[in-house]
Amino acid sequence: MITTETIYVATCDDCGEPWLDDNDCAGHFDKSDTENGLMESEWHVANDGKTYCPKCWKLDEDDNVVVNDIIDKQ
Ligand SMILES: [Zn+2]
Repeated sequence: MITTETIYVATCDDCGEPWLDDNDCAGHFDKSDTENGLMESEWHVANDGKTYCPKCWKLDEDDNVVVNDIIDKQ
């Protein structure tokens, strides 16, 4: 039989880039696998749940997270 499964993926809230794990796999059946994988990667997970790829955020000189779209508006 064919059934429907939910997979969890993460994409960058700025550029839309998908997060891939060490095996170049984007989707995980277990939400915690995606969450933990993000935490261990170079990606930034914001308090509001948004996720940003390494190209779209950086730390400023005060160690504050700066996201690309904020930089662009200044
Ligand atoms: Zn990005």
